[in-house]
Amino acid sequence: MPLILDALCQSEADAPVLRLVEALGGEPARVKERLVGEPAYHSRRLQFASGAEVILHDDAVVAAMLHAAPTEFAAHGFDLPEWIPGIDDGATLEDLKKAIDAPRYLTGMGFTLDGAYAVPNFKNNRGWNQPGNLLSITLTVEVPGRSCRPEDDDCPVCSDLLVRKEDSDGGQNGGAGGVDVERTIPALSSATSAGLLKESPHWVPLADLQLLHASGLMERAESQLTCTACRRIVCLTLFRASAPTFVYAVMDEARRRPLEKIPPAEQWGDAPRLAEDREAMHYVDHHPGAWFLVEQQGDLFLQARYWRNSMVDSEVLLRLEPDELAAYRSEGKDFLSGLAQRIDKSRPSTEESPYFHRDLYRGPDSAALTKSFATAIVNHTWIAEQRRRT
Ligand SMILES: [Zn+2]
Repeated sequence: MPLILDALCQSEADAPVLRLVEALGGEPARVKERLVGEPAYHSRRLQFASGAEVILHDDAVVAAMLHAAPTEFAAHGFDLPEWIPGIDDGATLEDLKKAIDAPRYLTGMGFTLDGAYAVPNFKNNRGWNQPGNLLSITLTVEVPGRSCRPEDDDCPVCSDLLVRKEDSDGGQNGGAGGVDVERTIPALSSATSAGLLKESPHWVPLADLQLLHASGLMERAESQLTCTACRRIVCLTLFRASAPTFVYAVMDEARRRPLEKIPPAEQWGDAPRLAEDREAMHYVDHHPGAWFLVEQQGDLFLQARYWRNSMVDSEVLLRLEPDELAAYRSEGKDFLSGLAQRIDKSRPSTEESPYFHRDLYRGPDSAALTKSFATAIVNHTWIAEQRRRT
């Protein structure tokens, strides 16, 4: 293990890396290279027949992976006992704790070494208590969970969705001419339709990104989509005054990215988008932590938060009835706050509650309603407030 730790952060030509490569078997069985994201970094992956991999970003070693199981480039798993005494391919998390004998990293799975982390990967991300589920151990300088895992650079689902522009020197630069927005958006959108990516409702809908950007109303218009395979979040951002970016982020990084209010479609939509907007839900009002009021084609809908128990909260979505509408028109917000309290007290997740059967989230259109509702309140959620502050 010290051989690996010494090589981390060093360049491929540096002595510690040469020593490590030699110890892993010399010439790699396979080398994979690609540009990741835009602005791009160069990812180079040396895969050895011994079952180990070394990953470099812009010529600095960021991770080494030791595969316990056979892989495409190695017929046998890596000789773990030789490198980490006490560990073999049957090791459980408990065995690793004993053998590595280092403080656990706070999110649970990894170990904190001197300036680096050791992160075991188990089959389907579980099964760490049974022998035979250990897939690999990654030694990395990246803090687990704080940034994308270097081994996801090649994710088969999401690593080829960025389409790059042909650069002016005819591809000499490996196509590093920036994001080809016209072709990247359809690539992301078809991966979303195929269920491979999941679009976040808290950002600009991918379908609106170019229109919003063209309007010049937003300094930066950003869509975020999560890969269902590697969980990286693709952040595609179109800036008013600079080149577009395509960045992979983990959840924590993604939600800290800034986004100003998304202007209403009437200010930037084309005819089809405006027609769609006439049928969509629109934000009317809200009381933080308690309720949201939205309007759709003359009807008003209240989403009220309630507590299932002291730990778990949930929401109901009701169409206001004529007497409730009248009360709201005369009493205003106070009526809605009172109504939200009555809903909470009635325990609306139980059939005894008069609101149980009115809850549209229990109906057949639940998924579509959840999505249109999320789009309607995008500028007013707690998350939106937070990211405007950054
Ligand atoms: Zn992925």
